Order: sequence, then C-alpha cells, then structure tokens
Amino acid sequence: MVATSTNLSVPWNLTFANCECLGGWRTQSQQPTTNDAHQGGGTTFSHADWLGTERVRRLYNGAVCESISSLPFGDAQTTSGGCYHPSSLHFTGKERDSESGLDYFGARFDSSILGRFMSPDSPSYSNRKNPQSWNLYAYSLNNPVTFRDADGHKIDCTNNVQQCQQDAANSTGNAQAAARVTTETTKHGWWIFKWTETSIKITGDINSFRALSPNASKLADLVTSKDTISVSYDQYAKPSIWANGITLNGGSTSYTPSEGYDAQAFIDPNRTAGVTYDQDAVDQHIPEANTAEEWGHEVEGHIWGELFGGHPGMINGHASRANMRDSITGENAVRALDPARGQKAPEFHHNYNDKDTVP
Ligand SMILES: [Zn+2]
Repeated sequence: MVATSTNLSVPWNLTFANCECLGGWRTQSQQPTTNDAHQGGGTTFSHADWLGTERVRRLYNGAVCESISSLPFGDAQTTSGGCYHPSSLHFTGKERDSESGLDYFGARFDSSILGRFMSPDSPSYSNRKNPQSWNLYAYSLNNPVTFRDADGHKIDCTNNVQQCQQDAANSTGNAQAAARVTTETTKHGWWIFKWTETSIKITGDINSFRALSPNASKLADLVTSKDTISVSYDQYAKPSIWANGITLNGGSTSYTPSEGYDAQAFIDPNRTAGVTYDQDAVDQHIPEANTAEEWGHEVEGHIWGELFGGHPGMINGHASRANMRDSITGENAVRALDPARGQKAPEFHHNYNDKDTVP
C-alpha cells in the first residue's frame, strides 16, 4: 500500500520553487480516495500538496497513473496520464466547473487563468491594515503559495493585543476558563508590506472549556467558527474603508453581516471624565460597563447572537430585540463575577424599544 508514501517526486511546473518562507515544497499524502472505485471502476490514491491541490494519483500497486502541474494561481493546469476518469477536484481541492473552467469556492467562483475571483468580495472583508485585502477580487491576498482562501476560524485582535486577550479571558466569567485564553501571532508579508495577525486561542480540550461557563461556550463557538471576527480597541469605529465610522466616546459597538459588514467589535478603553458612554447602566443605577463587560456585550452578545444564536442583529433594516437580549445576557454573565457590578434588565438595551419590530 502506498498511501503513506512521503517521498514522491512531483513534476511541478513552478519556477519559484523552494521559496524560503515555506522551507521548500512539500508533499502530503492524503487518505486513499476509495470513492473513486464507484465512479470509474478502479481505486486510485490521490496525493495533494499542502494547499490541497491534487498533484499525483497512484494505482493500488503504487504506479503513478496521473500527475497534475500548474502555476501558482492554479492556471496553466496540465495533466499527464489518466486514471480511469478525470478528476474534477483541482486547485486547492476545489471543484472546477467543466463548462466555465472556473473553480468553485463556495461563495464565489475563482478564475485560475486570471488569478482572481470573478466577483468582488464584500467590502467589509477588506482590512484597512492589510493593503492586499483592498483588492476585493484578489485570491488569498495575492499570495497563493502561502495561503489558500481559508474560511476564517478565528477571532483576531487587530490592535492592543494584551487588552484584547485580557478582555476575552475575563468575558468568560469563569476563572478556570480565563486562564485558558491565550493568543497566537502569525507574521505575513507581501512585497514591501509586512503585517502580523494575532488571534485568540483556547488551550487544551475545547469541550472541557465549553463546559466551564455559558460565555466560555460562546467564545469557543466563535474561535472555532468559519467566520473571522475582528476586535479593535479604538475611539473611532469604522466597519470598512468605504463606510462612515462613529466616535465611541468610551463605549463600544459591533457590526455584523446582517448590517452588511464582516463581524467585528470596537471597544474604546479611553474614558473621558464626565462623559456617559453606557446610558443603559446609568439609567439602571449600576456601574457603566468595563471593557471585559463590553466584550461580553459585543462579542458573546451581538456577534454570537447573530452567528450562532439564530438572532440576526438586523432584520429588514431594524435591530432585532432577540439580538439585543443576547447582548445583555453576554454582558451580565461578566457582571456576575462581582455582585457590585450589578445586572442589567434583560430587555434594557439602548435601543430595545425604538427600532425593533422583531420580537
Ligand atoms: Zn449593544
């Protein structure tokens, strides 16, 4: 059986092989694809590169029956040999549409020939700190050798990483869970641009983490989700480079896909004396939210409520009451750590009664 072979000689057609950042090209064996047997009458084994692009197929006896080469964006794909039937899975393991020649990436089709998507990404996916994301047609930040178009799976701290980690930890409302919240930083580079990405990580077994508290469970949902959620510590909350922003004056806000933006939270840790930033708390005679409580409100509240709670923030242009209740639940779980912080009434959000039409 050759499915575990690690020393394949793969005829790649790439001119910039052994790029330093990757430590050279590698092959990675995949599990045998026995479903092939149902389609064409013979079992073959596929071997993909680290991005998931199929490169070699072998027969049961180890003989190479097909090899596939391409340029970095998946273009100029050539196949030599043939094993029973043509594979429809090519660039990074995505399905290539036989009529259009485009690769299907779930939300969009990518043209490997043009090296870009055929439709623009939502402007909200553009991160003003990463110039490569300004091109909404770009595939994988124009760095196809290092990244594939992953679907997310993270909460990114876009600045003030220490505060971000601390608030994420405290937002769990549980000391054991808090001790297991950490961050991981990845460095990226393209041309003259260099940037780093710091994401919230949970150490140890995720199920035991979930069991520690309701907010820990919500944090685990978000850290392991297909969506990328970004958290910024800024006075000025701007959901995309095209949208207007708002000044937070010490408070916090969040944006969600139902409002037309990528999920993101903004928390302003700078309080100006005498300025009210949490009218809900003032009205209820309890202390205004601290940054961990704001994290609970925005991230485990509004954002979790939309992505996982079945309660979109906006329905037909109106804020939904259910989503606002989620935000208070998320915040109260953090307030519960200290009785002196008080609890907000579940239906006492700043705009609970002005905008909502959805119960
Ligand atoms: Zn809110």
